Amino acid sequence: MIKRILVCGAGGFIGSHLVNKLVEEGFYVRGVDLKEPEWSKSKAQEFMLADLRETDQAAEALSGDFDHVYQLAADMGGMGFIHSAETEIMRNSMLINLNVIDQAARNGVEKYFLASSVCVYRDMQIGESELSEIDAYPANPDNEYGWEKLYAERAVLAYGREFGISTRIARFQNCYGPEGTWLGGREKAPAAICRKIAESTNGQIEAWGDGTAVRSFIFVDDLVTGIRKLMESDIEEPTNIGTREYVSVQELVQIVANVADKKIEPQWISGPVGVQSRNFSNDVIESTGFKPIYSLAAGLAITYPWIEEQLLTFNS
Ligand code: NAD
Repeated sequence: MIKRILVCGAGGFIGSHLVNKLVEEGFYVRGVDLKEPEWSKSKAQEFMLADLRETDQAAEALSGDFDHVYQLAADMGGMGFIHSAETEIMRNSMLINLNVIDQAARNGVEKYFLASSVCVYRDMQIGESELSEIDAYPANPDNEYGWEKLYAERAVLAYGREFGISTRIARFQNCYGPEGTWLGGREKAPAAICRKIAESTNGQIEAWGDGTAVRSFIFVDDLVTGIRKLMESDIEEPTNIGTREYVSVQELVQIVANVADKKIEPQWISGPVGVQSRNFSNDVIESTGFKPIYSLAAGLAITYPWIEEQLLTFNS
C-alpha cells in the first residue's frame, strides 16, 4: 500500500522541495501551509491552506489517516528576522509545533519528523572542536529561535515516548538554493549576498559584521536527501544534517563574487551577525550513508543565477 504522507510547511523553501521529492519517490502527499509555494506549483496530490496555530485547523489538516508527518512549518527567517521577531517566533512556532505533534498523536501517526536547527547549540570560538548532538546540553542557544527549537524537540520526544510514535528530529544547518527567500527581511546570508552582488553596479556591497564569522551551508537538494536518509534510518534522537565545508562570511562573499564574475569590495557594517562560529559533527547522519554532493561553490553556481533572474523579473 502506498504510504500517506503529510508535509506541514509545504509552501515554504525546504518543505516544497521535500514534497516534490516524496511525490517522485511514489508517496501520496498532502501539503499544508498558510500559502502555496511562491515560485513553482507544488507536486503534492493535495494542498491544504491552514493556519497550524489554530487547533481546529491543525485537527483538520492532520485528519486523513496519514502514516508519516513531516513538520517543517515555522515562523522563520535569517538573523535579521530572528533578532527582531522574538515574540512572534516564540508564540507562533511553539503553537504550531504543539498543535501538530498533539494532533499526530490523536490520529495514530506512526512516524513523525521535526525540522530543528543547529541554532540549538551555544556560540563557539573559531577553531573549537566539533560539538556532537549531546553537546546541545547544558543548553545555551544565543537566540529565542534556538530555545523554541529545543522545546519543540523535547515535546516531540515526550509525545513519542507516551504515544509510541517513532520520532526523527533533524537539526538543519543553514540551507540555501533556488526558491529560497531572497528579499523582504527573512532571507538568509547566502541569498542576501547573492542578491546584493547581483544588484551591485559599482563593485560594492554592504554586509553585516566584520566577515570573520564562520559558517557552513548545505544545498537544498542535499538537505532533502539527508531528511529522507534520516527518516528511513532507525535514529530516534536529534541528528545534525550539514556539510563539513566551513567558510568565513568573507569567503562566502568571494565565492559568490566568483560565480557572478564580479570584483566585489564588501563594506562591513554593524548588524545582527549571530554566533561567531559553528562546528558540529555530522558523524551520526553520515552513518546512514548520507554524503552531501554539492560543494558551496557548486550550489551557489545554481542559486546565484536563479536569484539574478528573480531580481530582473522583480525590477521589470
Ligand atoms: P520557510 O519560511 O520557507 O518555510 C516555513 C513555512 O511554514 C512557510 O511556508 C510558512 O508559510 C509556513 N508557516 C508559517 N506559519 C504557519 C502557520 N501558522 N500555519 C501553517 N504554515 C505556516 O522556511 P524553510 O527555510 O523552508 O524552513 C523549514 C523548516 O526548517 C523550519 O522549521 C525552519 O525553522 C527549519 N530550518 C531551516 C533552516 C534554513 O536554513 N532554511 C535552517 C535550520 C532549520
